[in-house]
Amino acid sequence: MVGKPVSLSKWPEYVWLNNSIVRWSEASVHVFSYGLHYGVGVFEGVRGYYDDGLIKVFRLEDHMRRFHKSAKILYMSIPYSVESLVKATAELIRANKFKSDIYVRPVAFRGLGDFSLKSLNPVEVAIIALEFGKYLKPSGVKCMISSWRKPSADSIPVLAKATGLYLLYHLASVEAHKNGYDEAILLDSEGYVAEGSGENIFIVKNGELVTPPTYDAILEGITRDTVIKLASEVLGIRVVERRIRREELYASDEAFFTGTAAEITPIIEVDGRLIGNGEAGDITRKLVNLYREVVLGKISKYRHWITEV
Ligand code: PMP
Repeated sequence: MVGKPVSLSKWPEYVWLNNSIVRWSEASVHVFSYGLHYGVGVFEGVRGYYDDGLIKVFRLEDHMRRFHKSAKILYMSIPYSVESLVKATAELIRANKFKSDIYVRPVAFRGLGDFSLKSLNPVEVAIIALEFGKYLKPSGVKCMISSWRKPSADSIPVLAKATGLYLLYHLASVEAHKNGYDEAILLDSEGYVAEGSGENIFIVKNGELVTPPTYDAILEGITRDTVIKLASEVLGIRVVERRIRREELYASDEAFFTGTAAEITPIIEVDGRLIGNGEAGDITRKLVNLYREVVLGKISKYRHWITEV
Protein backbone atom coordinates (compact mmCIF):
# COMPACT_ATOMS: atom_id res chain seq x y z
CA MET A 1 0.00 0.00 0.00
CA VAL A 2 1.44 3.36 -1.05
CA GLY A 3 1.06 6.50 1.05
CA LYS A 4 -0.25 7.10 4.52
CA PRO A 5 -3.38 9.01 5.44
CA VAL A 6 -2.51 12.62 6.16
CA SER A 7 -5.54 14.04 7.90
CA LEU A 8 -6.89 10.64 8.92
CA SER A 9 -6.02 8.51 11.89
CA LYS A 10 -6.33 5.30 9.87
CA TRP A 11 -7.74 3.86 6.67
CA PRO A 12 -11.14 2.20 6.93
CA GLU A 13 -11.52 -1.55 6.58
CA TYR A 14 -14.06 -1.66 3.73
CA VAL A 15 -14.95 0.17 0.53
CA TRP A 16 -18.05 -0.21 -1.65
CA LEU A 17 -16.94 -0.87 -5.24
CA ASN A 18 -19.28 -1.65 -8.16
CA ASN A 19 -22.00 -3.06 -5.94
CA SER A 20 -19.86 -5.10 -3.54
CA ILE A 21 -18.24 -4.35 -0.23
CA VAL A 22 -14.53 -5.16 -0.56
CA ARG A 23 -11.49 -4.82 1.66
CA TRP A 24 -9.62 -1.51 1.43
CA SER A 25 -6.56 -3.25 -0.09
CA GLU A 26 -8.72 -4.76 -2.84
CA ALA A 27 -10.45 -1.52 -3.85
CA SER A 28 -8.32 -0.90 -6.97
CA VAL A 29 -8.98 0.07 -10.58
CA HIS A 30 -6.84 -0.26 -13.70
CA VAL A 31 -4.18 2.37 -14.59
CA PHE A 32 -5.72 2.61 -18.06
CA SER A 33 -9.04 3.78 -16.58
CA TYR A 34 -10.38 6.57 -18.76
CA GLY A 35 -11.34 8.79 -15.83
CA LEU A 36 -7.75 8.86 -14.58
CA HIS A 37 -6.44 10.15 -17.93
CA TYR A 38 -9.15 12.67 -18.82
CA GLY A 39 -10.83 13.57 -15.54
CA VAL A 40 -14.14 12.15 -16.72
CA GLY A 41 -15.85 11.45 -13.46
CA VAL A 42 -18.14 12.90 -10.83
CA PHE A 43 -18.10 12.71 -7.09
CA GLU A 44 -19.78 13.76 -3.88
CA GLY A 45 -18.73 14.62 -0.35
CA VAL A 46 -21.10 13.79 2.48
CA ARG A 47 -20.64 14.03 6.24
CA GLY A 48 -21.79 11.69 8.94
CA TYR A 49 -21.74 12.74 12.59
CA TYR A 50 -21.21 10.24 15.41
CA ASP A 51 -23.77 10.97 18.10
CA ASP A 52 -25.77 8.85 20.56
CA GLY A 53 -23.98 5.72 19.27
CA LEU A 54 -25.19 6.34 15.71
CA ILE A 55 -23.76 7.83 12.55
CA LYS A 56 -26.11 10.63 11.46
CA VAL A 57 -25.56 11.24 7.75
CA PHE A 58 -26.53 14.70 6.60
CA ARG A 59 -28.66 15.17 3.45
CA LEU A 60 -27.47 11.88 1.99
CA GLU A 61 -30.30 11.62 -0.50
CA ASP A 62 -29.71 15.17 -1.75
CA HIS A 63 -26.03 14.38 -2.29
CA MET A 64 -26.89 11.21 -4.24
CA ARG A 65 -29.38 13.18 -6.34
CA ARG A 66 -26.68 15.74 -7.19
CA PHE A 67 -24.34 12.81 -7.98
CA HIS A 68 -26.82 11.59 -10.59
CA LYS A 69 -27.34 15.10 -11.94
CA SER A 70 -23.57 15.70 -12.30
CA ALA A 71 -23.22 12.38 -14.13
CA LYS A 72 -26.02 13.23 -16.54
CA ILE A 73 -24.30 16.48 -17.53
CA LEU A 74 -21.19 14.41 -18.41
CA TYR A 75 -23.19 11.91 -20.58
CA MET A 76 -22.69 9.37 -17.81
CA SER A 77 -25.34 7.23 -16.25
CA ILE A 78 -24.80 5.85 -12.77
CA PRO A 79 -26.11 2.27 -12.86
CA TYR A 80 -27.55 2.48 -9.32
CA SER A 81 -30.60 4.45 -8.23
CA VAL A 82 -30.44 7.17 -5.58
CA GLU A 83 -32.22 4.80 -3.17
CA SER A 84 -29.76 1.97 -3.76
CA LEU A 85 -26.79 4.33 -3.28
CA VAL A 86 -28.31 5.50 0.01
CA LYS A 87 -28.69 1.86 1.07
CA ALA A 88 -25.15 1.03 -0.06
CA THR A 89 -23.75 3.92 1.99
CA ALA A 90 -25.58 2.72 5.09
CA GLU A 91 -24.26 -0.84 4.57
CA LEU A 92 -20.73 0.45 4.15
CA ILE A 93 -20.94 2.55 7.32
CA ARG A 94 -22.26 -0.45 9.25
CA ALA A 95 -19.47 -2.69 7.88
CA ASN A 96 -16.78 -0.25 9.01
CA LYS A 97 -18.23 0.08 12.56
CA PHE A 98 -17.25 3.76 12.81
CA LYS A 99 -17.14 5.36 16.25
CA SER A 100 -16.38 8.94 15.20
CA ASP A 101 -17.41 11.54 12.62
CA ILE A 102 -16.99 10.42 9.03
CA TYR A 103 -16.76 11.73 5.49
CA VAL A 104 -18.35 9.76 2.65
CA ARG A 105 -16.98 10.03 -0.88
CA PRO A 106 -19.09 8.52 -3.67
CA VAL A 107 -17.21 8.64 -6.99
CA ALA A 108 -18.18 7.50 -10.50
CA PHE A 109 -15.84 7.54 -13.48
CA ARG A 110 -15.39 6.04 -16.90
CA GLY A 111 -13.30 2.89 -16.70
CA LEU A 112 -11.38 0.60 -18.99
CA GLY A 113 -11.94 0.56 -22.76
CA ASP A 114 -11.04 2.75 -25.70
CA PHE A 115 -8.96 5.88 -25.09
CA SER A 116 -10.37 8.03 -27.88
CA LEU A 117 -12.00 11.25 -26.70
CA LYS A 118 -15.39 10.18 -28.01
CA SER A 119 -15.39 6.96 -25.99
CA LEU A 120 -18.16 6.26 -23.56
CA ASN A 121 -16.48 3.52 -21.53
CA PRO A 122 -18.33 1.65 -18.77
CA VAL A 123 -18.99 3.66 -15.63
CA GLU A 124 -17.44 2.40 -12.40
CA VAL A 125 -18.81 3.51 -9.04
CA ALA A 126 -17.22 3.47 -5.61
CA ILE A 127 -18.20 4.74 -2.20
CA ILE A 128 -15.49 5.39 0.34
CA ALA A 129 -16.20 6.31 3.95
CA LEU A 130 -13.47 7.54 6.28
CA GLU A 131 -13.11 8.83 9.82
CA PHE A 132 -12.75 12.56 9.40
CA GLY A 133 -12.46 15.63 11.63
CA LYS A 134 -12.33 19.32 10.76
CA TYR A 135 -11.34 20.40 7.24
CA LEU A 136 -10.68 24.10 7.86
CA LYS A 137 -9.81 25.91 11.12
CA PRO A 138 -13.13 26.37 12.99
CA SER A 139 -11.84 29.63 14.52
CA GLY A 140 -11.55 31.19 11.07
CA VAL A 141 -9.40 31.22 7.95
CA LYS A 142 -7.12 33.69 6.22
CA CYS A 143 -7.71 33.75 2.48
CA MET A 144 -6.22 35.09 -0.70
CA ILE A 145 -7.95 35.88 -3.95
CA SER A 146 -6.58 33.21 -6.26
CA SER A 147 -4.74 34.08 -9.43
CA TRP A 148 -6.88 31.33 -11.02
CA ARG A 149 -10.34 32.31 -12.23
CA LYS A 150 -13.47 30.21 -12.15
CA PRO A 151 -14.43 29.56 -15.80
CA SER A 152 -17.86 30.64 -16.95
CA ALA A 153 -20.65 28.13 -17.48
CA ASP A 154 -20.10 28.20 -21.24
CA SER A 155 -16.49 27.02 -20.86
CA ILE A 156 -16.94 23.91 -18.72
CA PRO A 157 -19.97 22.51 -16.87
CA VAL A 158 -19.38 24.10 -13.47
CA LEU A 159 -22.73 22.86 -12.15
CA ALA A 160 -21.47 19.28 -12.27
CA LYS A 161 -19.28 18.17 -9.39
CA ALA A 162 -16.87 16.75 -11.94
CA THR A 163 -13.48 15.31 -11.02
CA GLY A 164 -11.68 17.13 -13.86
CA LEU A 165 -12.78 20.52 -12.55
CA TYR A 166 -10.87 19.91 -9.34
CA LEU A 167 -7.56 20.46 -11.12
CA LEU A 168 -8.44 24.15 -10.91
CA TYR A 169 -9.38 23.98 -7.22
CA HIS A 170 -6.26 21.98 -6.45
CA LEU A 171 -4.07 24.63 -8.10
CA ALA A 172 -5.89 27.43 -6.27
CA SER A 173 -5.61 25.66 -2.92
CA VAL A 174 -1.91 24.83 -3.32
CA GLU A 175 -1.18 28.39 -4.44
CA ALA A 176 -2.92 29.77 -1.33
CA HIS A 177 -1.03 27.45 1.01
CA LYS A 178 2.32 28.17 -0.64
CA ASN A 179 1.62 31.86 -0.05
CA GLY A 180 0.88 31.30 3.63
CA TYR A 181 -2.93 31.43 3.50
CA ASP A 182 -5.45 28.85 4.67
CA GLU A 183 -7.73 28.92 1.65
CA ALA A 184 -8.24 30.41 -1.81
CA ILE A 185 -11.19 32.44 -3.06
CA LEU A 186 -11.78 32.32 -6.80
CA LEU A 187 -13.28 35.15 -8.81
CA ASP A 188 -15.45 34.32 -11.79
CA SER A 189 -14.49 35.16 -15.37
CA GLU A 190 -15.95 38.66 -14.96
CA GLY A 191 -14.10 39.37 -11.72
CA TYR A 192 -16.94 38.82 -9.23
CA VAL A 193 -16.49 36.61 -6.15
CA ALA A 194 -17.39 33.02 -7.04
CA GLU A 195 -16.42 30.53 -4.33
CA GLY A 196 -13.64 28.89 -2.35
CA SER A 197 -11.61 25.94 -3.63
CA GLY A 198 -14.15 23.60 -2.04
CA GLU A 199 -16.75 25.92 -0.51
CA ASN A 200 -19.46 28.42 -1.32
CA ILE A 201 -19.10 31.88 0.15
CA PHE A 202 -21.38 34.31 2.02
CA ILE A 203 -20.82 37.83 3.30
CA VAL A 204 -22.81 39.73 5.90
CA LYS A 205 -23.69 43.30 5.02
CA ASN A 206 -26.00 45.47 7.14
CA GLY A 207 -27.41 42.42 8.91
CA GLU A 208 -28.26 40.61 5.66
CA LEU A 209 -26.58 37.60 4.08
CA VAL A 210 -25.31 38.00 0.55
CA THR A 211 -24.13 35.08 -1.59
CA PRO A 212 -23.36 34.64 -5.30
CA PRO A 213 -26.36 33.32 -7.28
CA THR A 214 -26.47 29.80 -8.67
CA TYR A 215 -27.14 31.10 -12.17
CA ASP A 216 -23.50 32.20 -12.13
CA ALA A 217 -20.54 29.84 -12.25
CA ILE A 218 -20.77 28.19 -8.82
CA LEU A 219 -21.60 24.76 -7.48
CA GLU A 220 -25.12 24.47 -6.06
CA GLY A 221 -23.83 23.69 -2.59
CA ILE A 222 -26.00 21.65 -0.27
CA THR A 223 -24.58 23.47 2.76
CA ARG A 224 -25.26 26.76 0.98
CA ASP A 225 -28.88 25.69 0.57
CA THR A 226 -29.01 24.61 4.23
CA VAL A 227 -27.66 27.98 5.40
CA ILE A 228 -30.11 29.93 3.23
CA LYS A 229 -32.99 27.96 4.76
CA LEU A 230 -31.72 28.22 8.35
CA ALA A 231 -31.01 31.95 8.06
CA SER A 232 -34.41 32.80 6.63
CA GLU A 233 -36.64 30.20 8.29
CA VAL A 234 -35.10 30.06 11.79
CA LEU A 235 -33.10 33.23 12.36
CA GLY A 236 -35.28 35.56 10.29
CA ILE A 237 -32.25 36.91 8.41
CA ARG A 238 -32.80 38.10 4.84
CA VAL A 239 -30.66 36.32 2.24
CA VAL A 240 -29.85 38.06 -1.02
CA GLU A 241 -28.45 36.08 -3.96
CA ARG A 242 -26.48 38.47 -6.13
CA ARG A 243 -23.03 39.11 -7.45
CA ILE A 244 -20.41 40.28 -4.95
CA ARG A 245 -17.58 42.58 -5.95
CA ARG A 246 -14.12 41.81 -4.63
CA GLU A 247 -13.88 45.06 -2.68
CA GLU A 248 -17.29 44.38 -1.13
CA LEU A 249 -15.83 41.19 0.30
CA TYR A 250 -12.85 43.12 1.72
CA ALA A 251 -15.22 45.61 3.37
CA SER A 252 -17.86 43.10 4.54
CA ASP A 253 -19.01 42.98 8.19
CA GLU A 254 -18.61 39.20 8.29
CA ALA A 255 -17.80 36.49 5.77
CA PHE A 256 -17.86 32.70 5.88
CA PHE A 257 -17.51 29.58 3.77
CA THR A 258 -20.06 26.79 3.54
CA GLY A 259 -19.34 23.26 2.44
CA THR A 260 -19.81 19.68 3.53
CA ALA A 261 -16.16 19.39 4.58
CA ALA A 262 -15.78 23.03 5.70
CA GLU A 263 -19.27 23.13 7.34
CA ILE A 264 -19.55 26.84 8.23
CA THR A 265 -16.08 28.34 8.56
CA PRO A 266 -15.53 32.04 9.40
CA ILE A 267 -13.35 33.99 6.97
CA ILE A 268 -11.32 36.36 9.14
CA GLU A 269 -8.93 37.89 6.62
CA VAL A 270 -8.77 38.36 2.84
CA ASP A 271 -5.62 39.59 1.09
CA GLY A 272 -4.35 41.20 4.30
CA ARG A 273 -7.64 42.96 5.18
CA LEU A 274 -9.34 41.90 8.41
CA ILE A 275 -12.98 40.96 7.95
CA GLY A 276 -14.96 42.75 10.66
CA ASN A 277 -12.63 42.81 13.65
CA GLY A 278 -10.71 39.72 12.50
CA GLU A 279 -12.74 37.07 14.29
CA ALA A 280 -15.99 35.21 13.68
CA GLY A 281 -18.92 37.65 13.71
CA ASP A 282 -22.24 37.28 15.57
CA ILE A 283 -24.34 36.06 12.65
CA THR A 284 -21.64 33.58 11.60
CA ARG A 285 -21.45 32.21 15.16
CA LYS A 286 -25.23 31.85 15.37
CA LEU A 287 -25.25 29.91 12.10
CA VAL A 288 -22.35 27.68 13.20
CA ASN A 289 -24.22 26.74 16.39
CA LEU A 290 -27.53 26.22 14.64
CA TYR A 291 -25.92 24.12 11.89
CA ARG A 292 -24.40 21.85 14.53
CA GLU A 293 -27.81 21.26 16.11
CA VAL A 294 -29.38 20.59 12.72
CA VAL A 295 -26.77 18.02 11.59
CA LEU A 296 -27.19 16.17 14.88
CA GLY A 297 -30.95 16.03 14.32
CA LYS A 298 -31.79 18.16 17.34
CA ILE A 299 -34.25 20.34 15.43
CA SER A 300 -37.38 18.44 14.47
CA LYS A 301 -38.21 20.60 11.45
CA TYR A 302 -35.01 19.46 9.72
CA ARG A 303 -34.77 15.92 11.03
CA HIS A 304 -35.81 14.56 7.62
CA TRP A 305 -32.35 15.62 6.37
CA ILE A 306 -30.74 12.94 8.51
CA THR A 307 -30.19 9.26 7.75
CA GLU A 308 -29.36 7.39 10.93
CA VAL A 309 -27.10 4.36 10.64
N1 PMP B 1 -17.98 24.67 -4.20
C1 PMP B 1 -17.08 23.75 -4.51
C2 PMP B 1 -16.14 23.99 -5.63
C3 PMP B 1 -17.02 22.53 -3.77
O1 PMP B 1 -16.11 21.60 -4.06
C4 PMP B 1 -17.92 22.34 -2.70
C5 PMP B 1 -17.87 21.06 -1.88
N2 PMP B 1 -18.73 20.09 -2.41
C6 PMP B 1 -18.85 23.36 -2.41
C7 PMP B 1 -18.86 24.50 -3.19
C8 PMP B 1 -19.85 23.19 -1.31
O2 PMP B 1 -20.82 22.25 -1.64
P1 PMP B 1 -21.55 21.38 -0.55
O3 PMP B 1 -22.08 22.33 0.47
O4 PMP B 1 -22.63 20.68 -1.28
O5 PMP B 1 -20.54 20.46 0.04
